[in-house]
Amino acid sequence: MNKPKLKKWKEPINISNYPLGATCESNHLVSINAGWRTYRPVINQDKCVKCLRCFLVCPDGVIDKSKELLEIDYDYCKGCGVCAYECKFDAIDMVKEEK
Ligand code: SF4
Ligand code: SF4
Repeated sequence: MNKPKLKKWKEPINISNYPLGATCESNHLVSINAGWRTYRPVINQDKCVKCLRCFLVCPDGVIDKSKELLEIDYDYCKGCGVCAYECKFDAIDMVKEEK
């Protein structure tokens, strides 16, 4: 998967260092967000018909469709479950994360 490059993030020292508006420019990820996810989506490739609905609705754009089988980037998936909810073929299971 073509992962986005992490943006260099300078820790703010005082309130004047914080930018106005959004905390980062769009299209830039400041850190890998894995670690706080409670459930992870797992694609059942036998049921998946590659309709790409999950790809379209994923708010973080972490479903890769560039290969024959869809692949989820777990470094950046937040486990929101939107993909599983929207899959009309019941092809995505939300599985509890193990420690
Ligand atoms: S929405 Fe379901 S069936 Fe469609 S591509 Fe995603 S996992 Fe496969
Ligand atoms: S759980 Fe949320 S962030 Fe992760 S792949 Fe599904 S829609 Fe995207």
